[in-house]
Amino acid sequence: MRWTLKRGKKLDLFQYTQRKLTFTYTWLIVLFLALFSIIVSVFFIFMAYHEQSNSLRATMSATENGAVVIPDLENSRNNDMYFFYVLNNKSGEVLAHSDAIPEFSDYSLKLIRGWRADGESFRLRWLPEIHKQQGDVILVSENRVLFIGAQPIMTADGIATIYAAKDVTYYWDILRTLLIVFICILVLFIIVAVKFSSSMSKKAMIPIQQSFRHQQQFLADASHELRTPLSIMNTSLDVIEMENGETITPYSKEVVLDMKEEIGRMSRMVQHLLMLARSDVGSAQFEMGSFDIVPKLRQWVLAFEGVAQKKSITVRKMLPDTLTVKGDPERLKQLVYILLDNAIKYTPEGGKVDVGLDPNPRQWRIIVRDSGIGIAKEDQPRIFDRFYRVEKHRSREEGSAGLGLAIAKQIIIAHRASIALESEPGKGSTFSVEFPPYKQA
Ligand code: ADP
Repeated sequence: MRWTLKRGKKLDLFQYTQRKLTFTYTWLIVLFLALFSIIVSVFFIFMAYHEQSNSLRATMSATENGAVVIPDLENSRNNDMYFFYVLNNKSGEVLAHSDAIPEFSDYSLKLIRGWRADGESFRLRWLPEIHKQQGDVILVSENRVLFIGAQPIMTADGIATIYAAKDVTYYWDILRTLLIVFICILVLFIIVAVKFSSSMSKKAMIPIQQSFRHQQQFLADASHELRTPLSIMNTSLDVIEMENGETITPYSKEVVLDMKEEIGRMSRMVQHLLMLARSDVGSAQFEMGSFDIVPKLRQWVLAFEGVAQKKSITVRKMLPDTLTVKGDPERLKQLVYILLDNAIKYTPEGGKVDVGLDPNPRQWRIIVRDSGIGIAKEDQPRIFDRFYRVEKHRSREEGSAGLGLAIAKQIIIAHRASIALESEPGKGSTFSVEFPPYKQA
């Protein structure tokens, strides 16, 4: 399994939170507007349906002396009525009819033929644009939306159905315009909402940001201040050891040794905390320069030879003769120390550790490979988190606090590099830090 920490800018928690807030605000505003548009449209449709169906019902059930009233639509196009038909259900024969435009009656008939209504019912139908030749003249009927009602009645010849249609194109156009206006407003609102939410969330973040910075500054100052008493304690213990070299009892000697070990552990932790706090506040100093990394790397690896020998671990170096790179030598040393320290710490006796330098001009790499205990797939992305340790007890015995790789991450980010980890439990791990190309001026 390969896990990669992507190259790029430092992930700013505040930027991330601000973006999330902006997104939530915008989403809420858009949701409210969309809901409002839907409610208005549904209300409009309901009102139009109610009004038009009442009007159709009145026309279909109008009687005079027990007979159905057939409106004269051709001469008086009352109430937007478009056609009125009475068809025999069995034979389909037209018993009575009236059309606003009689020339297009066959098209109207097509809309109702085959529609058998058991009781009163309503339908919306589209009548497309029609061009009809009549003699030398071409008759044109424009696109229409018809709202048609059907109602069965009893006649002397059996059951018949009254079909009455209203031209509701006007309502349809209003609804369409309304929807277009809503969509335009929605788009406009999204733009305004993004701008507005972004400035609102920025304002909301200011006090939190300030308090966070103060805390980080406090941590940086406190860690800095802690370093002096720790080094004084260390020197004092050295003095005690030197002055009482011969007379000190074995028990006191052990106590002094334990104290020195604990002070050492604390110093390392304070140093790590200081580095992390400084990089959080943005005050971590990186002195970038170009230098030949090969002799430095030899020196850095040499520093671990003693510890490796104690565990009978073979350390191999695979380095080119020379490689000029750009970076902060002190920080790169810290990075290599963290990776090498872990490689040796988490490799059992008799294992192997390889340190390589890939001089690829497009992407030079430092590779640290071990034949150690490996890291499970689910732990791989988390080991770069602060205070994260896979085996808490074991790591504690090894004198670690889970801050090493968190610092390595900061150094990698500052160098605009990335790190890839390939590891399998029981087989070992390979950490490969990939640096951007170094162009010489
Ligand atoms: P620590 O100081 O505990 O080593 P790190 O941040 O350096 O802290 O590492 C975090 C955890 O990642 C370690 O506790 C260990 O469980 C795991 N780890 C790191 N490097 C290796 C490695 N080379 N092999 C196996 N496990 C590793």
